[in-house]
Amino acid sequence: MTADPLWAPWRIGFVLGEKENRPLDAEDPVPKLLPDGKGDCFLCQSAVTGQLRARHVVARDEQTVSVLNLYPYNNGHLLVAPRRHVARLDELTGLEAVALTEAVTRSVCLLERVMQPEGFNIGLNLGRVAGAGLPGHLHWHIVPRWNGDTNFMAVLGQTNVIPQSLDTLWDLLQEEVGREGGNRR
Ligand SMILES: [Zn+2]
Repeated sequence: MTADPLWAPWRIGFVLGEKENRPLDAEDPVPKLLPDGKGDCFLCQSAVTGQLRARHVVARDEQTVSVLNLYPYNNGHLLVAPRRHVARLDELTGLEAVALTEAVTRSVCLLERVMQPEGFNIGLNLGRVAGAGLPGHLHWHIVPRWNGDTNFMAVLGQTNVIPQSLDTLWDLLQEEVGREGGNRR
């Protein structure tokens, strides 16, 4: 990989192990729907929540869920995951594997239309040693890249900027998803 590493100081909370999962909202009926023991997995929560904006769920279909990363490496950093809580690639069904490839493709096209990135880093961290923040639930990282973004983010990357921009970005992405007929369930 030849791309420069991004300097993302707002990720310090994540690196220091501060809360990775937000508590469920009182009005959110999620706990009853979750499989046993998966109540604290934010991807499982994203797969079933009705709070799409609060949880920054960008797209869902029968097999997959796509969400904005709360701790983005760059603006537009999406996570694409199977709806099922599975940790390994060989636990995916053929249907899920195909649906995930399609969801990654849709996410790339969506980000291209809304944010016009010049490239992407797309990858999967398997296991904590490889950097997976949530090793129990597979998820692909889709990180848009712009020429010179390392310098840009170093200047603009302040911890209190990103949470606000996530809401704004979610609105923009939903507008575009709505235009293409929607793929949320
Ligand atoms: Zn999960």
